[in-house]
Amino acid sequence: MPSPEVLERFIARVESNHHAEAIEEFYTADASMQENDAAPRVGRDALVANERKVLARMKSVKSTCVRPVFVSGDRVVVRWIFEFETLDGRAIHMEELAYQRWEGDRVAEEKFFYDPKVRPMLQLRPNCECCDRDLPPESTEAMICSFECTFCRPCVESKLKGRCPNCGGELVSRPRRPAEKLAKNPASTQRVFKPQGCAGTTE
Ligand SMILES: [Zn+2]
Ligand SMILES: [Zn+2]
Repeated sequence: MPSPEVLERFIARVESNHHAEAIEEFYTADASMQENDAAPRVGRDALVANERKVLARMKSVKSTCVRPVFVSGDRVVVRWIFEFETLDGRAIHMEELAYQRWEGDRVAEEKFFYDPKVRPMLQLRPNCECCDRDLPPESTEAMICSFECTFCRPCVESKLKGRCPNCGGELVSRPRRPAEKLAKNPASTQRVFKPQGCAGTTE
């Protein structure tokens, strides 16, 4: 079980928003992390990489531990509140319980319990990556891959043959966000334009 001093240092590291560093310092090499009932991520390097990827999409993060922290033997439960602001200006309020199993002074296993509805919503990007044409949120021409790479239907059908040139995944119609939801959950304004990627797939 972790010593009270180690546990406090871990919490302080997260509260200073050094999330990736906290994993490097306080998790075992083969630690696993699970979000609700999703498949666990395994291995400290993978956990750190994922953390950095998530944080790269954020303009700011504020992390708060809601005390008390519950400790019983090698099990620790921490209640967290995270306030994110994404690069395209969306605010995300997330509250979760982290259920941890420690091995000595390191976390070996962790499961997060949170309301999945607060996960960052789908990015509605404003344009086609191939031809740069506008694709407003109400467009029926917008198509996306699972990473939200965004293209217009004509480019997908003619140049791309239905596959994302970035990840190789399939491209499907992007769902439209109801107008009354757009005010609070606006579309992205960040244009992504990478015509060189599209040229590579032209026959
Ligand atoms: Zn296009
Ligand atoms: Zn893609």
